[in-house]
Amino acid sequence: IIEAGQPEHSVITTCAYCGVGCSFKAEMRGDEVVRMMPYKDGKANHGHSCVKGRFAWGYSTHKDRITKPMIRAKITDPWKEVSWEEAINHAASEFKRIQKKYGRTSVGGITSSRCTNEETYLVQKLVRAAFGTNNVDTCARVCHSPTGYGLATTLGTSAGTQDFDSVDEADVIMVMGANPTDAHPVFGSRMKRRLREGAKLIVIDPRRIDLVKNPHIEADYHLPLRPGTNTAMLNAFGHVIVTEGLMDEEYVRERCDLEEFNRWRAFVADPKNSPEAMEAFTGVKAADVRGAARLYATGGNAAIYYGLGVTEHSQGSTTVMCMANIAMATGNIGHNGAGVNPLRGQNNVQGSCDMGSFPHELTGYRHLSTDSVRQQFEQDWGVTLDPEPGLRIPNMLDAAIEGSFKGIYIQGEDIAQSDPNIQHVIAGLSAMECVVIQDIFLNETANYAHVFLPGSTFLEKDGTFTNAERRINLVRRAVKPKAGYADWEVTMMLSEALGYPMHYNHPSEIMDEIARLTPTFQNVSFKMLEEKGSVQWPCNDKAPEGTPIMHMNGFVRGKGRFMITEYVPTEEKVGPRFPLLLTTGRILAHYNVGAQTRRTDNVVWHPEDVLEMHPHDAEDRGIRDGDTVSIASRVGETTLRVKVSDRMQPGVVYTTFHHFGTGANVITTDYSDWATNCPEYKVTAVQVRPTNRP
Ligand code: SF4
Repeated sequence: IIEAGQPEHSVITTCAYCGVGCSFKAEMRGDEVVRMMPYKDGKANHGHSCVKGRFAWGYSTHKDRITKPMIRAKITDPWKEVSWEEAINHAASEFKRIQKKYGRTSVGGITSSRCTNEETYLVQKLVRAAFGTNNVDTCARVCHSPTGYGLATTLGTSAGTQDFDSVDEADVIMVMGANPTDAHPVFGSRMKRRLREGAKLIVIDPRRIDLVKNPHIEADYHLPLRPGTNTAMLNAFGHVIVTEGLMDEEYVRERCDLEEFNRWRAFVADPKNSPEAMEAFTGVKAADVRGAARLYATGGNAAIYYGLGVTEHSQGSTTVMCMANIAMATGNIGHNGAGVNPLRGQNNVQGSCDMGSFPHELTGYRHLSTDSVRQQFEQDWGVTLDPEPGLRIPNMLDAAIEGSFKGIYIQGEDIAQSDPNIQHVIAGLSAMECVVIQDIFLNETANYAHVFLPGSTFLEKDGTFTNAERRINLVRRAVKPKAGYADWEVTMMLSEALGYPMHYNHPSEIMDEIARLTPTFQNVSFKMLEEKGSVQWPCNDKAPEGTPIMHMNGFVRGKGRFMITEYVPTEEKVGPRFPLLLTTGRILAHYNVGAQTRRTDNVVWHPEDVLEMHPHDAEDRGIRDGDTVSIASRVGETTLRVKVSDRMQPGVVYTTFHHFGTGANVITTDYSDWATNCPEYKVTAVQVRPTNRP
């Protein structure tokens, strides 16, 4: 007998929040989800969950969901509900008109790390095959693009080296620019368990995050560096490792390019890279840096876990390469308990990068300029592809402001809240003649849109997400799409209206195509995922069971490549006008721009963004805990309440961007990583004043 309110059946699926990729049972009563229960056989979470995945799914039925397509001629006009057919035909005819008038490359698209692999693949295929341009980019541009560049350059593939289970064999855990207990809670708990068992902990972070000291754990070293000095810090680690003879010489000799290694060894051995010399930049005592570097190099298996506090800098890619350098020098890649491990923010950041969403790469990180790769896709898709890379997101906006980029298709991404220097984003969007948004809510970017196509939540579609350990998990449809179609079906309709019909009956057929065209996905299929539960790529004839640990028998690129990583101070400098440095992060209850979590009960735990400030900085300005202050940078100004906190170091303030209007991106600048254009969200010079004073 089933009692009223009790679930009748369940659907096993994957959490749509962070990159841990927890498996859940969506428990159902009739056509309604009544509860999300962590799934004990989920290989990423083993039955655990956090407050986001477990409780914050109610946004899927929130009254703000848009379920009817809408169009308008001008962004000042009211929206008009229309049929799917009219909306799709209108969008397609606008894109065709724009391309006829301004040229083929005057349009582009943005894929989403919240959508499935199959949906992301289809959007980049539409842009390349139906639009005929490589102007496609992913929201990973603004988070982990330096991970892709840095790890591909040094090791040969754009992905973390380990599986989550590997942490159980780590003797030393180094956490840099990440806050796993808030942003990746299930993995953070697992890390804490290993620390309670006795593993040593190094935390490199400007802020005293929970891991540094809590009732159960105390870090062996907390290096509270000045924002923007990550590269200086890790070069100092390299200096200690090289000059104190702490290298694994045999590992380096067997696995790495020795010419590059010798160059790197001479570079980091230079006294200018010593902890003593770098102290002037990092602000961290040289003795602590020496102690931490010795622990990393000699403490047994040493694993690095890092987040956006590494990548979102003007030297984001350089710092990723620094981590690979010290890991190779100490033999800490290619076995359990070690590695260089990006903690991915969004559920499918890894997947959106794998699926060919970058303007220069096709699936599996293969460059467009490689004739054999391009020809394989040309044959399969029946089109000719341009060998030249297209525009990245910031370049699309620049081109729009200059007048050469006029139309964009954005799936599941809110660039008018999430991207830096929002004024620049708005100027770019406002200059376009056709902005098409596909989303579940009327987000901030939709304020500048001409066509709105209702999106579907993870509960409304089949597909796959790939988590931070390269694990491909199935997403299973629990309820029908509220607007009638899943996102992959909408992309197909738009492609057909553009004159390039796609023929898939189910996302499994899209995955079959991905597997056909992508060596690292060669053996992946929905059937296989149903049988195994999940699998970690590469999964092919060489690794039919998948690959939990990368680079075990040599690096993917052949010999590991040490890179020279000169420290270059950021252009964003403090001075009399803007004497404080602002850095940004996330909190446990919320997720990124908050579009989902703000529409759930999680909002009561954190109803607003606040500015954390050291007591001395507050006192200097006559600011008390709870006061409202203005925060001004050279690009904008916003208002927040202050939380006086000794988690901060003097001279550094911190906030989140989960709420709109007061969010940090009104003031973040458009400085970016030299290699990938990932924005420098983590370093903004600001002034903070009480609002009732001049
Ligand atoms: Fe979802 Fe991440 Fe929480 Fe797991 S840890 S339940 S994937 S938000």
